[in-house]
Amino acid sequence: MLQVKQIVNNIFTSNTYLLFDDDYDYCWLIDIGDFEKVANAIPSGVEVRGVFLTHTHFDHTYGINVLHKAYPNCCVYTAEYGKVALYDEKKNFSRYHEAPFVYEGTDVAVLQDNEKVEIYPGLFITAIATPGHCPSCLTYVLNDWIFTGDSYIPNVKVVTKLPNGDRKQAKQSRDIILQMALGKNICPGHGEIV
Ligand SMILES: [Zn+2]
Repeated sequence: MLQVKQIVNNIFTSNTYLLFDDDYDYCWLIDIGDFEKVANAIPSGVEVRGVFLTHTHFDHTYGINVLHKAYPNCCVYTAEYGKVALYDEKKNFSRYHEAPFVYEGTDVAVLQDNEKVEIYPGLFITAIATPGHCPSCLTYVLNDWIFTGDSYIPNVKVVTKLPNGDRKQAKQSRDIILQMALGKNICPGHGEIV
């Protein structure tokens, strides 16, 4: 059975989510912060096959190079703009933090709005484009779970006063998310699962 585990990272207490099924020897991640915490949460012998980025801001991606070293076959999933921002320390905002970085790997898959990825036989995760906070924002729907990143954090206003933020888009995205989230567990980029 699919299990979802929340991991709270040190930088800005962003969330990483671990998705795994005991019947398989591989797992998946939503965002990547502190690799060590993630590694401790992964059952032994289980490999990370891919990481789905909610967006490419550094607080949601800063563990990506350590992850890539530990699991060289791990694929990074992001939106079109995310693929650009991963390789640009200005666009991923890490330049304005203490440890600027760009992604050192090459295995990046671009997801379009509504694109599905089969993560376990018969089980699909769907990416929904939810720009506004950042053009790279994707929200992921998986069974009863919805991973909203910073596009929707319950009781928190979406931050759009950033380079490339767009208030109007953010509102449209929020409406889409609220509709899709009915009856689901909301897993935001910061804070508790609701
Ligand atoms: Zn962000």
